[in-house]
Amino acid sequence: MGNILVTGGSGLVGRHLMNILPDAIYISSKDFDLTDIDRVHSMMDFFKPKIVIHLAARVGGILDNVNHPVDYLEENILMNTNVLKKCHEFNVDRVIGILSTCIYPDVVETYPMKEEDLFNGPPTSTNFSYGFAKRCMAVQIDSYVKQYDKKWNYLIPCNLYGEYDKYEEHNSHFVSALIKKIYEADDEIELWGTGKPLRQFMYGGDLAKVIKYIIDNGVMGNFNVAPNWVYSINEIANITKKACEKDQLVVNYDNTKPDGQFRKDVDSSKLLSVLKDFKFTPLSEGIKKVYDNFSKRYDR
Ligand code: NAP
Repeated sequence: MGNILVTGGSGLVGRHLMNILPDAIYISSKDFDLTDIDRVHSMMDFFKPKIVIHLAARVGGILDNVNHPVDYLEENILMNTNVLKKCHEFNVDRVIGILSTCIYPDVVETYPMKEEDLFNGPPTSTNFSYGFAKRCMAVQIDSYVKQYDKKWNYLIPCNLYGEYDKYEEHNSHFVSALIKKIYEADDEIELWGTGKPLRQFMYGGDLAKVIKYIIDNGVMGNFNVAPNWVYSINEIANITKKACEKDQLVVNYDNTKPDGQFRKDVDSSKLLSVLKDFKFTPLSEGIKKVYDNFSKRYDR
């Protein structure tokens, strides 16, 4: 197996991957700005990878998405276009693109959604630009496969959490923000919306294992990646309170704030027909792991 290059190597998924694929090359924005095609050219020319795992993206929470739609659209389109174009020019054998269940239609008739539902409606309005930019990468990869017979594919993971998530207010993801809130609170916390929307959350280490399996076994095709459970935001808050040993904490909901998409759970049966024995980390177990790690390094 030749050089493996991982873009977005400093992010949540990249750092989980580093634990199980330590010999790959991990790139961050400080090494190469992927929105700049000349920097992407230099990166490919320098490393000449045989396999590229493209994780890099501008990723953030609802508020940041609502406030910066142009940045989410342009940065993601530019990064994906530059990386794929240069992977083609430098004859990269395998590219694995990482998409997101945010790219699926806002509403469909039947849940959980299957891979073939991808183009059955527009993404949700709260992350429309991010969703559309990432959906375009599915079209981009499929186009390279069709026109140039590439052995490239993509994965569509659900929402993630993990030890390496960000905890800054503007760009943290739901579970990390929740853990920090619960950790800092004495009696009560406030969450946006009604607490009713349904979510699938996956431990970041599980996605890293799936990516490694796909590479090690030369698996082709495009797959949803998500555990087969779905919880309401309120249920997730209760699971997190328990993991943080703060059962008594009261959760108040500010329903003047948006809920975001009501549900976007996906069906992983296509993936599990290939990775037959794969077990996703139960949510309570994963959140406990992340909380234990967070509480050790965070000074209240
Ligand atoms: P993350 O923690 O936000 O990390 C993003 C990574 O992209 C960082 O390494 C960052 O580098 C890099 N990056 C951002 N802008 C860049 C640029 N202009 N040039 C070069 N690198 C740049 O993201 P993540 O959570 O690991 O997500 C990885 C992938 O999974 C993304 O494609 C995302 O869309 C997808 N995904 C994530 C989730 C989730 O809940 N987190 C869910 C589904 C899918 P710096 O550290 O230098 O900024």
